[in-house]
Amino acid sequence: MVKRAARVRPRRAKPRYPRGVVMSVVAAVVVVLVALGVFLASRMLGGQAAAPETEPAHDVAVSGAGPGAQWQLPERRWEPMPPPDPASPLHGMQANDLNAQPPAALTGCAAPATVETIEGWEAAVRAQWECVHRSWVPTLERLGWSATAPTVQFFRGEGDDSECGYLEAPAFYCSAGDGSVHFGARHFDMARIWKLSVNEMVNHEYGHHLQNLAGVTAAKVALPWTIELERRAELQATCWSAAMTAHNASFTFGQAEYGAWLERLDSMRAGGVHGSRESMLHWGTRGLYAKTMNDCNTWVVPETHVT
Ligand SMILES: [Zn+2]
Repeated sequence: MVKRAARVRPRRAKPRYPRGVVMSVVAAVVVVLVALGVFLASRMLGGQAAAPETEPAHDVAVSGAGPGAQWQLPERRWEPMPPPDPASPLHGMQANDLNAQPPAALTGCAAPATVETIEGWEAAVRAQWECVHRSWVPTLERLGWSATAPTVQFFRGEGDDSECGYLEAPAFYCSAGDGSVHFGARHFDMARIWKLSVNEMVNHEYGHHLQNLAGVTAAKVALPWTIELERRAELQATCWSAAMTAHNASFTFGQAEYGAWLERLDSMRAGGVHGSRESMLHWGTRGLYAKTMNDCNTWVVPETHVT
């Protein structure tokens, strides 16, 4: 025996290639083998591995969930709503049959999109209003309330005349008669740049129609006017707008929409009857999590929650 060099190959003459060259060749071979291994593995999975990566943003996987999982709202704990207080001067707005209802699932609405022309804007607003109303009719009929659709009107300037008088705003609702809703040029400007603007504004104004049907508006105007009462009404409509938008089946409210919604709450006009930035962010976000309309009951919370 000679220790057979098989293992220990008899030293060959000095390798022709410098050691570095040999090592990098070996490394390259290893890399190719690994790549080949990966390729074969993915082929064996029948290409599924590739597909989720092509999915558009709204089905973004959250950490820990597998690819393709539906995005979920971030986990948040909300204080439970206090019960209506029969002794409170606000009781007339606190307690009504709408509170126990779930936000209506909006079905058959157009997918959200920005608008380009006045005609396109009017058509999008009218279609969304009709879709929201149609989606609420079963609940309204179950509660024995009027299912007559309020009229939709448009104006070019800052404000519009209505049965409730002349008002200036991007949009407003007048509760006189069967109700009327008015959308103005300032909303058109918003709808040109944000695809959820029609949802946000139409659903908000429809929230005011629901306040009218639920007796909240009548109970409010029976009290002496205060800015706090107006803020509670506005923040409830903002909260319900979030609830209806999150329950709009025509699109997936995903991470991008959530981010844009918070950005909007963080940039829309605050103060006055609209409420503070903090209150708008609170109620405009809480609505996204609403399981019942009572989750937006701004009439039962202390004044500190509706600043
Ligand atoms: Zn409003």
